Amino acid sequence: MMIQAPKGTKDIYGTEAANVRWLEDMYADVATRFGFKEIKLPTFEHTELFQRGVGDATDIVQKEMYTFLDKGGRSITLRPEGTAGVVRAYLEHGMPSEPSPMKFFYCLNNFRYERPQKGRYREFTQFGVELLGSESPLAEIEVLSFLVTYFAAIGLDEYELHINSIGCDKCRPTYHAELKKFLAAHHDELCEDCQARYETNPLRTLDCKNEKCQLVLEDAPKPADYLCDDCDIHYTHVKEGLDQIGIEFEEDPKLVRGLDYYTRTVFEFVSDGIGAQSAICGGGRYDNLVETLGGPPTPAIGFAFGLERLRLELEARGIEMPGVERPDLYILSFEDTRGPALHLAQRLRAEGLTVETDIMERSFKAQMKHANRIYAKHLLVLGSEELKADTVQVKNMASGEETEIAKAELDDYLLENY
Ligand code: AMP
Repeated sequence: MMIQAPKGTKDIYGTEAANVRWLEDMYADVATRFGFKEIKLPTFEHTELFQRGVGDATDIVQKEMYTFLDKGGRSITLRPEGTAGVVRAYLEHGMPSEPSPMKFFYCLNNFRYERPQKGRYREFTQFGVELLGSESPLAEIEVLSFLVTYFAAIGLDEYELHINSIGCDKCRPTYHAELKKFLAAHHDELCEDCQARYETNPLRTLDCKNEKCQLVLEDAPKPADYLCDDCDIHYTHVKEGLDQIGIEFEEDPKLVRGLDYYTRTVFEFVSDGIGAQSAICGGGRYDNLVETLGGPPTPAIGFAFGLERLRLELEARGIEMPGVERPDLYILSFEDTRGPALHLAQRLRAEGLTVETDIMERSFKAQMKHANRIYAKHLLVLGSEELKADTVQVKNMASGEETEIAKAELDDYLLENY
C-alpha cells in the first residue's frame, strides 16, 4: 500500500506553491514598509505555554492541540497559534526593556486537531503581526491599516471589517454577571456546547454558530454596552481613527473571538468568496497576556489570518496570482555542446535570468518538445558552429521570430525582452 499524507495536511506544489510564495513575499514586503520585523519561532513549545497563554477553556487547548511526551518525558505541543510563542520570545530575550513598541510579523505553520474541510486543515499557515508596548488606539489603526494595505496590494478589496470591544478586567466582571443571568434564564434553549460554556467561558456563547443559540442570543446583553469609561473612550478613538484614514468597518456587538487572551478591541475580516460568510482574518488587543506569561504589564495587539483560506478567497474571486515561473531561455544542445550549454546557462542565471538546458541527454527533437512543454519564452540552439561564432540565433517562441545576437549581449537582450 502506498503511504498517503495524514488527514488534514496538504502538499503544496506547482501553481499553488508559486501563489503561496508570492503571497508570502508580498506580506513580508508590506509588513517591512510598516516597520514590522520578522520573527521565526520553534515549531513546538512547552505545553504549559499554550495552556496559560491561549487559555485552558478554549477549544484549542481543550480539543485541538497536538500534545505528546518527548523522549525526556516533557510535555510538548506543536504550535497551534503564533501569539503565545511571540510573547514567550519577547520575555525570554528581555525585550520589555527595549524601546516600545516592538513590532513583529510572522509566517508560521500551525497545528490543530480539527475536522478538516475546505479551508480548514490540521496543519495550516498563519500570517500575522504582534505589536507590543502601545496602549494607544493608534496601535489598532496601525495594524488595521497594514492589513488593508496588504489586501489591496494582492488585489483583494471585497470584504467587511467587523469590530467590537469586549472591555477590560475592570468592566468585564459586571458584563459577565449580566450575561450569565441571561444565559441561566435561557439555559434549556441553548446547545450542549453553550450550556458548558456557561460555566467555562460564557462570552463564547455569543459567537456560537448554532442557529437556535443565535436566535436566543439576539437579546443577550452586549459587551459594548457595559464598557467602563476608559474602555468606552478607547473604543471611540479606534472608530474615529478608522474613519480618519478611510477604513470602513461595521460594529458587530456579538463579535468576541475564540481565544481567552483578548481585551478591548476585537476584529475580524469577513468575506463570502469561498461560500458562506467566514472570517478570513481575526485579531484584537490582548493587554494582559504578557503579564499572564510572567512579564511586566504590557499592552499589545495582533492578528492572524490563514494563508490557505486567503488563497482560496483570491482564487474564488478570480484574482490573478503569479504562477510558476517560465524560463526566459531554453538552450538546446548536442552531445559535444552539453558542457558549454551548462556553462552559458550558469552565466545567464548569475545575471538573473531563468534558464533551462538539457540534463537528460535527449535528442534534438525531444529537447524541442520539452522547451515547448515548459513554456520557454526563447530558444537558442547551441551547436558546434554556434560555439565558434561570435553571434547566436535566438528564437522568440511566441512570435516564431529569430534574431541574431552577439553572445556578449545575450543577457542584455533577454533581460530586455522577457
Ligand atoms: P484563530 O487563530 O482561530 O483566531 O484564526 C485566525 C485565522 O486563521 C482564521 O480566520 C483562519 O483564516 C485561519 N485558521 C484558523 N484555523 C485554521 C485551520 N484549521 N485551517 C486553516 N486556517 C485556519
